[in-house]
Amino acid sequence: MLRAPLSCRGHVTSSAFSGLVRQRWGTLRGHWLRPERWCVQAPCGPRRRNNAVHPLWKDPASSPGGTRPSPINIRWRDSVYDPRLQPLSVSYDAASCLHVWNTGYLLQVEFDDSTDWSGISGGPLENPYRLKQFHFHWGAVDEWGSEHTVEDHAYPAELHLVHWNAVKYQNYREAATGEHGLAVIGVFLKLGARHEALQELLEVLPDIKHKDSRAALGPFQPSCLLPTCRDYWTYPGSLTTPPLSESVTWIIYKKPIEVAQDQLAAFRTLLFSALGEKEEAMVNNYRPLQPLMKRKVRSSFQTPEDGPAA
Ligand SMILES: [Zn+2]
Repeated sequence: MLRAPLSCRGHVTSSAFSGLVRQRWGTLRGHWLRPERWCVQAPCGPRRRNNAVHPLWKDPASSPGGTRPSPINIRWRDSVYDPRLQPLSVSYDAASCLHVWNTGYLLQVEFDDSTDWSGISGGPLENPYRLKQFHFHWGAVDEWGSEHTVEDHAYPAELHLVHWNAVKYQNYREAATGEHGLAVIGVFLKLGARHEALQELLEVLPDIKHKDSRAALGPFQPSCLLPTCRDYWTYPGSLTTPPLSESVTWIIYKKPIEVAQDQLAAFRTLLFSALGEKEEAMVNNYRPLQPLMKRKVRSSFQTPEDGPAA
């Protein structure tokens, strides 16, 4: 079911990908992480997390306004159990996995989205959405790294599976800026047992250490990266990378998946920098928390305050 044959892995540096990264990051590229001030006294995780923010988010242009920015801090008191929320249906085809690449900001795995082979439906979604890519965000240390937080708790990493509405739109680019265009599944990673499916992906990372490098990967079954418990929160939000489009229906699984310490460390071996540039470790590649504003977070499960657990 899950294979990542070494024979399929090639190490490619693509000028096309370089162009895309330039397009996405504009003049901000080349300014990488330098945590300015880290508190040495616990507990001050949230403040330390904020001080470690990527330079991309220190630019005024990174706060374009809007009414539904992501990520957010999910709080029980802001979330409402919605009994109408159905389970999310997930169906991914391992064979539609194309390649993995270092975007210069994160690690991303691309899928063939020319058909409905891989996608999601149900849950809060009115249409089926096709899988376009998945990627990860992570921290320099285990105390933070996720984009979303739960009751001010940050996880060391967060997986995002990005889907687009192929009923309303012709392609991902159109959907990314359109109403009900995207649906992103968020999965928290926490320290614990070794994750064998994730390891298949991590073994390719030495091939994509530098920005713009790419390697073949496949077949790869992304549903192996989802938690067994499918309880989720959902809320209307945005992309957390440029162009920050407010077109995303977020679906955040309540339960994290577990990964081993050395697996988290493997993410941190990647570099923001390109071959020949001064090496800059790829860490803290998350957008800072955004205000909830006038939004409601709905949950597919009952909180203790709502009554007995479903
Ligand atoms: Zn993301």
